[in-house]
Amino acid sequence: MSAADSNSRFKIMAQILARNALPVEATSVQGGSSQSGDVPATWQTAMKRALRTAGDLCQYVGVEPDRLGIEAEKQFPVFVPLQFAEKIEKGNPRDPLLIQVLATGLELAPGGATDAVGDREAQFAPGVLQKYSGRCLVISTGACAIHCRYCFRRHFPYDEAPKGGQGLMQALDAVAADPSIEEVILSGGDPLTLADGVLARFTNAANDIEHLRRIRFHTRVPGVIPSRVCDSLLDWIASSRIPMFFVTHFNHANEICTEVATAMQRLQQTGVTLLNQAVLLQGVNDSFQTQLELCKRLLDVRVIPYYLHQLDRVQGTLHFEAPEASGQEIIRRLRSHLPGYGVPTFVQEIPGQPSKTPL
Ligand SMILES: *Cc1c(COP(=O)(O)O)cnc(C)c1O
Ligand code: SF4
Repeated sequence: MSAADSNSRFKIMAQILARNALPVEATSVQGGSSQSGDVPATWQTAMKRALRTAGDLCQYVGVEPDRLGIEAEKQFPVFVPLQFAEKIEKGNPRDPLLIQVLATGLELAPGGATDAVGDREAQFAPGVLQKYSGRCLVISTGACAIHCRYCFRRHFPYDEAPKGGQGLMQALDAVAADPSIEEVILSGGDPLTLADGVLARFTNAANDIEHLRRIRFHTRVPGVIPSRVCDSLLDWIASSRIPMFFVTHFNHANEICTEVATAMQRLQQTGVTLLNQAVLLQGVNDSFQTQLELCKRLLDVRVIPYYLHQLDRVQGTLHFEAPEASGQEIIRRLRSHLPGYGVPTFVQEIPGQPSKTPL
């Protein structure tokens, strides 16, 4: 970024911040590697300063807003931390990162379900879903560090799920009472939007359950706000006897900058096994070249490509759907360019099936 560029961006940010009157916290140095310009130092500040309207996002990246986007954001607000917005190419309305987060009128198209993956039938306990043998998934919070327009849980009734630390402990009680559960998965929303104190208590209690063998987090936070990988997070990870798995969510190689690489390295050095799930998204990553670059970049930063998901047919997201055949063709071609462990499994979630279904 040139100095002039950075200067005008600073002015836009100052305007947006003044308008939103967001509190600017005193920043602590804990784990925060504030570099230049407008990037907030701590993850909490990064959450507070996130862009929250399509108008602000468009202004920040220098593209024209879509008039009908205003209707779409009423249903699902825009939320984009500056660290993510910074990676969007200025003035490019087709940028693959921008498309993932900018509300547009395309979301108003009819069709699709509000519960395409059968979450409502899979309640094992309040806020706990079990679809597959041996593992259950805890809806730990409704909050995310970014709002992905294609999100399959954008209609999930988060209000009905137990919240915060107490909700997590109740979920663990259900897990403790069922010896067939070997793995607990914290999902959401995004579990890493919870405070480290809450997550530390959860991890401690999970370690006391004898039949539990794995703890898994489904999270986009470290890839969006890498300063979330702070010392207090690494502390509770390091304290776990039970192996920890993080399933990250990167859809495009451009998301993986040097700060993200450092965050992944710190997690891996603390003993976390890192896997990635991506979603096949029209106009974002539905080409062989883009997927090849994503997989190579993931391996560069010690993350194994785990799943490539066929889009769940959720209301408001159908314009992101790519044909199943193109996903299959991409995977077939990836196999001749990558090690076996570098090729994700292309899957779809079909309600009632005993696992994700490979396509
Ligand atoms: C996707 C999912 C899992 C995880 O499945 P894996 O194949 O183990 O990654 C677990 N529980 C639920 C409810 C899920 O939707
Ligand atoms: S981070 Fe995950 S749960 Fe949150 S909006 Fe994105 S896809 Fe949905």
